[in-house]
This record gives sequence, C-alpha cells and structure tokens, in this order.
Amino acid sequence: LEFEEFYLSRELLQGIFEAGFEKPSPIQEEAIPVALTKRDILARAKNGTGKTAAYVIPTLQQLNPKVNKVQALILVPTRELALQTSQVCKTLGKHLNLNVMVSTGGTGLKDDILRLQDSVHIIVGTPGRILDLASKGVADLSTCQTFVMDEADKLLSPEFTPVVEQLLAFHPKDRQVMLFSATFPLIVKSFKDKHMNDPYEINL
Ligand code: AMP
Repeated sequence: LEFEEFYLSRELLQGIFEAGFEKPSPIQEEAIPVALTKRDILARAKNGTGKTAAYVIPTLQQLNPKVNKVQALILVPTRELALQTSQVCKTLGKHLNLNVMVSTGGTGLKDDILRLQDSVHIIVGTPGRILDLASKGVADLSTCQTFVMDEADKLLSPEFTPVVEQLLAFHPKDRQVMLFSATFPLIVKSFKDKHMNDPYEINL
C-alpha cells in the first residue's frame, strides 16, 4: 500500500514524505483507512511500530485548520510523550497551518489559559491538566471530534480513569475514539465496552 492510496490532502502527503516516510507501516495500513471513516479504533501496538503516525495522520486529515476550535484531543501519560507527540503533529502537519498545544501538569496554568485565547486545533497532554481547563470553561471540547488515548494501559490507571471519563463527557456524543495500548488489561476492556462504539480492533 502507498500513502497516496488513502486520499489524503496534498499538504498532508507533503508533510509525510518530508518526514522521510515512504510507505505506511503495517499498523498505519490497517488503522488509517478505517480511522478516516470515523470509526472507533482499538489497537494493540508497541512503540516503534509507527503507531503515533497511525493516529496522527487520520486526525490531521479530518480537521479543518480554518476553523478556530479545538478539534482533537490526544491524551498521553507523560509530559515527555506529550512533547514528542506534539512534534509528530507539527512535522506531519507542517503544511497545514495548524496550531498544536501541549498541556500537562508542571507548568503554569496561566500560560495554558493565555495560549487558549489564540487558535488551538489540537491539544496534546495529560488528563489532569486538560480536565482542569475543560471544567473551568477555558478549553471548549464541545467541538472536539477526535479523542485519542495513547499508552492507554498507563492512562487507565485507577488514578487517571475517572479523570479520562470526565474528559470524555465534555466531548460531543458522536466523537471518534482511538485507543492505542501495548497491553489490554481488564480496565482497557471495560473502557472499550463503556465508551467505544463498535471499534475496529487491530492486533499486530
Ligand atoms: P512510533 O511507533 O510512533 O514511536 O514510531 C517509531 C518511529 O518510526 C518514529 O521515529 C517514526 O518517525 C518512524 N515512522 C513511523 N511511521 C513511519 C513510516 N511509515 N516510514 C518510516 N518511518 C516511520
């Protein structure tokens, strides 16, 4: 399969090729066409498989940079991973005029509040800080159609799970959920049953 076969925008394809990607990896071959139909995705995937681009590419294709609203939320368990993932969004979306915001604990809340007064299309961050912003009414997630959880087995710890669930409640009902996890503990299975709609399952 080739990236051209996904019918991505020319600008997005350009970003993908400039990143040095020539062909989709196996997880990208499976995830991208399905994700572009807005179906939920549940994928078992390790680091190094190209899983980040597997959800970033359909996320970028589906959002409209001309609309100044938060259209995608990418949840990750750590600040380091949030920074890496936001970089992947910026690299692949280089020609899309996108604004990507990283929001995690450990930085001033005021900076996040100021940042959200400008246009933000994608928020990448950890659950606690983003819930804080959503419940204060600073981040409006009512137009956020794409909800990604990376390293979901770590995100769905007993401590984080209620926070993730509260965050989902701020999203529209027809949002797309994409969940990536190295392992599938019981808590991931029950999250799937509770919050996902007939997800396409990928097991590589
Ligand atoms: P990840 O599994 O998302 O951590 O990605 C692992 C590495 O593979 C990263 O350095 C990516 O830049 C790279 N990568 C992802 N997709 C592709 C691709 N289709 N072709 C070449 N490299 C890729």
